[in-house]
Amino acid sequence: MRPNAVSGLVRRHARWVVPVATPPIADGTVVTEGDRITWVGPRASAPAGGEDEELGDSILTPGLVNAHSHLDLTMMRGALEDLPFFDWVGTLVRAKREVLTGDDFRAAALLGVAEGLSRGITTFGDTADNDAAFDALLALGARGIAYREVFGPDPAQVSASIAGLTSAVAAMRLRETSLVRVGVSPHAPYSVSDALFAAVGAFAEREGLPLAVHVAESAAEDDLVIRAAGPFAQFLRGRGIVVERRAYGPIQLLDAAGLLRRSTLLIHCVRASASDVARMADTGCGIAHCPASNAKLGHGIAPLKEFLAAGARVGLGSDSMASNNTMDLLAEARLASLQQRALTKKPDALPARAAFRLATLGGAEALRLDDETGSLVPGMQADLVAFRMSDFGEPVADPLAALVFGAGQVVAHRVVVAGRERVRDGVVHGLAPAVRERVVDAAARLAQWRTARASG
Ligand SMILES: [Zn+2]
Repeated sequence: MRPNAVSGLVRRHARWVVPVATPPIADGTVVTEGDRITWVGPRASAPAGGEDEELGDSILTPGLVNAHSHLDLTMMRGALEDLPFFDWVGTLVRAKREVLTGDDFRAAALLGVAEGLSRGITTFGDTADNDAAFDALLALGARGIAYREVFGPDPAQVSASIAGLTSAVAAMRLRETSLVRVGVSPHAPYSVSDALFAAVGAFAEREGLPLAVHVAESAAEDDLVIRAAGPFAQFLRGRGIVVERRAYGPIQLLDAAGLLRRSTLLIHCVRASASDVARMADTGCGIAHCPASNAKLGHGIAPLKEFLAAGARVGLGSDSMASNNTMDLLAEARLASLQQRALTKKPDALPARAAFRLATLGGAEALRLDDETGSLVPGMQADLVAFRMSDFGEPVADPLAALVFGAGQVVAHRVVVAGRERVRDGVVHGLAPAVRERVVDAAARLAQWRTARASG
């Protein structure tokens, strides 16, 4: 099969097919025509005709869905280690302003999409305050929603913030495709005023845009929202912004601003209360659960079992390289399952099939893309990944257990998005070698800047 060409009828055969929506199939076949899946089942009963692709001892699954990333920050891998959250946010913001350039973000986003694709991620829910990730998704043929970030903790900034967002979104929407869509992201309660939340919510509703927001992530955020105290309150007061108690919790703050709705993705929700969880499920919000990022930054473990028990739409997110040094959804699924088992002391707290569902169909549901991707069902988009069984440690007795518990920087053998091959043997089609050099250079400048600040 020629890379980047939409194929006619293709029959892909693998030792295991994991459709997610239905149980695994031994010696299975997935038939696609153009950008669609037309048949899934045992090879012995597959319809005849078309081109055959033998994937051998592989596990063929739907493309993985990364419900939350910051692709333009790929150069920050390992750059902001071990900082308290307020300092971490502040250093990240200053680094973006003082060290990094538009070319850095563009290269980082390309490398980020390539890394994701090479690990089997075909769909990204990405947030950024530039269009680097949007361009990178388009350039490398991945699927996703590029949520354009907007900031403004001072209520006096609302109209300026909305004006900036409106023109940025309008420019991006001119280049929107069926694969890559545009959304908006009022960043977080510590960087967005209540008035701006409400204004962005109204804008998104008017424009029919999906919305994503970081929420209930840290103790410092709770301190600001609930008690008008802590480092964020002090920082905002230092900028002359009036800080008052805003709500009983960050999720209630979003509820009051009218943002809890079906097209909203809530990122993190580590500190969601029982009533928050019920409200999130009732309103149909999606949730991006980011277990590695939440653990690494010392925020804790989000109530995933409660999200699922309430019937919420939950997917997994890697978050940025600044808070999680890998983009590996299988590793996130593994961690999510291990955390729930450790917390509940129950070996069946999050079975492998449920954890792998989070990395695929759950993420598609959280992004409201589940009628297109996330499972291998006839009629769905041909987003497929083949993983080599030997990469999980053989023998593979249970393909779902291998995917979730054998994970460790596994590279995809084949990746197909909407019928077009994007990765072969771990190599991403269309990534220029100069991209990696640019990102390495940006990371070196970042490290130099950090050293100078530490000694100065
Ligand atoms: Zn994030």
